[in-house]
Amino acid sequence: MPTCRLCYSVYPREQFIHGIGPKAQVCVRCGLEKGLVTEEEVASLYNKSTANARFSALARRWSPLMWLSVLWAVWIILLNEVEPWGLYTLILLALFTLVVPLYMFFFSSKHMAVMARLTPEYERPKGH
Ligand SMILES: [Zn+2]
Repeated sequence: MPTCRLCYSVYPREQFIHGIGPKAQVCVRCGLEKGLVTEEEVASLYNKSTANARFSALARRWSPLMWLSVLWAVWIILLNEVEPWGLYTLILLALFTLVVPLYMFFFSSKHMAVMARLTPEYERPKGH
């Protein structure tokens, strides 16, 4: 994957603007910031609302794992010596730990569909 010569970020080929001279090896974001292209010319740019929607989709995708680790930490720190609630919550936590990977597996295709919907449509021109 090529590197942008202005911000030194590495992106896939479709995240770069086309042209020679000052436009060579420049990513779409830098091209827009430096005024080399207009926003209509760069179809592959992730604008603010798309980027925010992608971030929240990722957060929704991975939040069960975060909650699971938080609940385990709470159990280890606070609940493991409390009788009898330590045992009951341990059983519940073990059930959640078994169910969460299944849940994430069954909803992975939905997540991929959401991410595909939030990916800008872009067709690479011939020769690029
Ligand atoms: Zn750049």
